[in-house]
Amino acid sequence: MEGSAAASIASQDRALEVLRSVFGYGAFRREQAAIIDRVVAGGDALVLMPTGGGKSLCYQIPALLRDGMGVVVSPLIALMKDQVDALRQAGVRAAYLNSTLTPSQADEVERDMRQGKLDLVYVAPERLLAPRCLELLSRCKIALFAIDEAHCVSQWGHDFRPEYLQLRILHERFPKVPRIALTATADGPTRNDIIERLVLGDANIFAVGFDRPNIRYRVLAKREAKSQLWAFLRSEHPSDAGIVYCLSRRKVEEVADWLCAKGRVALPYHAGLDAPIRERNQDRFLKEEGIIIVATVAFGMGIDKPNVRFVAHLDLPKNLEAYYQETGRSGRDGLPANAFMTYGLTDIRTLLRFIDGADFEERQRRIEHHKLNALLGYCETATCRRQVLLAYFGERDHQPCGNCDNCLEPPRVLDGVKAAQKALSAVIRTGERFGVGHLVDVLLGNSTEHIRKLGHHQLKTFGVGSDLDRKRWRSIFRQLVAQGHLEVDVEGHGGLKFGKTGWAVLRGQVPVVFRSETKTARRPADFSRDTASDPSSSAANDKLFQALRALRSELAREQNVPPYVIFHDTTLMEMVRRKPTDLLAMSDIPGVGRRKLDRYGAAFIAAIVKSVT
Ligand code: ADP
Ligand code: ZN
Repeated sequence: MEGSAAASIASQDRALEVLRSVFGYGAFRREQAAIIDRVVAGGDALVLMPTGGGKSLCYQIPALLRDGMGVVVSPLIALMKDQVDALRQAGVRAAYLNSTLTPSQADEVERDMRQGKLDLVYVAPERLLAPRCLELLSRCKIALFAIDEAHCVSQWGHDFRPEYLQLRILHERFPKVPRIALTATADGPTRNDIIERLVLGDANIFAVGFDRPNIRYRVLAKREAKSQLWAFLRSEHPSDAGIVYCLSRRKVEEVADWLCAKGRVALPYHAGLDAPIRERNQDRFLKEEGIIIVATVAFGMGIDKPNVRFVAHLDLPKNLEAYYQETGRSGRDGLPANAFMTYGLTDIRTLLRFIDGADFEERQRRIEHHKLNALLGYCETATCRRQVLLAYFGERDHQPCGNCDNCLEPPRVLDGVKAAQKALSAVIRTGERFGVGHLVDVLLGNSTEHIRKLGHHQLKTFGVGSDLDRKRWRSIFRQLVAQGHLEVDVEGHGGLKFGKTGWAVLRGQVPVVFRSETKTARRPADFSRDTASDPSSSAANDKLFQALRALRSELAREQNVPPYVIFHDTTLMEMVRRKPTDLLAMSDIPGVGRRKLDRYGAAFIAAIVKSVT
């Protein structure tokens, strides 16, 4: 066998051994093994993986396998303590350096770094880039640099951090140290920015796709938002932790009070609250079980609680990017989770007023309008929601998912071929240059001055759509965009042009349906069956699960860490399912590594034995 191939196999065996003994998992997920192999061998990697995909192990394991310590750059200071706590629970020598440490605590970490006593150190970017820290690093043995949240280097998204631009220094100063950049948000422009600005031209790119198959998407027309939320919580999440997003601070307070009156523990979170109260509410959400946070969008950055079981939007989010990020905070542990949303006409008006009132340049305003339309198209679609979402993020080849409301309970639809053909014909006959407002004028036969000047009153399509009103036509255009038959020409003037399937629709070769506005008479489908978090339907198992959860909370409180750094829910559920009563059987449970087996194995076995006898 060739030398490097043999070395690679040996390194894969060692990686698997660390995965088992330190983290307690039996096998790598999708691309993890290949990524780890690449970095262990000293190569650079760019990892694009959805939230909850398992990015952390991709740098943690190479840091343990390579000589020296791994340096992790992350902008999320609030998260570092949790991450380090979790690693220490698994027996990894980890620490962090950021502005929350006292000078003497920082000194201690720096001393450990110099003396080679750490496997991993998390550092805030501004700290890392300080001359003093770079100088310190030059005297340490470094296994790798991991650049987490790498999209922060790009101005395209919303999380731009100027410090990130300077991270290219790492490559210049330490050219031999492999770098791994990781992110969950990378459309084309962001990805290019990361490669260019971090000088990752030689990196292997590992793109895993953005689907979050365990999240079930559901959108309801708003009637009584609070009662709709309550019905959802009562039937599907009677005791689970989750997040409820509202648009205004006032509504946050009102909904939190209302949920409390109903008997749930619901805590408000918005920028108008004093910082200590915000912190306390966030801390309780992380450390206690079953708490609901009611929040404005101010909440969520850097929350990586794995067992958030639902995210509910009582108002429309700002756009699909925000929606995907916010709903993505549920189900990080891979267990079933719910994304629930109600939306109504008032929401649309609020967002429109926001866009038109804001101080945007013309181009930016067009982009914002386009994003709002994409969001509404998603809400209105009668087809698989996941397909619409993923297509928006550039993944167009997914099949209907079977795990969204439209797949599970197909809505009543109208045959839309005729209307779609009229709309597409208006687009093509006006030269694929105009926005929805103008196209609707043509369809309705409005002989405005603008239309006459362009000669559009002479088009064959002029007035052919007078059977429907303006509101309906706007919705039809949004749905045609959502289904990919039309596209918005964002680079040009923001007009509509044909998408891949536009001509096929015009020729009548593909069916088109629109959501009917008449409500379904049927009872809503029972969504509750397989998304409830109960590990099993049996009462005895449920009781055992509660007992293990209580034990975990107690251990967590003693050490002042969140319960999930001790064991994840998935791990407790496996214990309930397999009921290990000795250490050997316990060591087989995913998430139980060597260190945790030593520390907690006996206590959990005792709880299991007690429940089965
Ligand atoms: P990300 O940073 O990509 O959002 P994490 O690294 O936090 O995701 O991992 C998400 C969850 O998946 C964590 O609970 C982690 O322990 C778990 N996980 C990661 N890799 C594996 C694996 N190979 N087997 C089982 N669980 C895994
Ligand atoms: Zn679906």
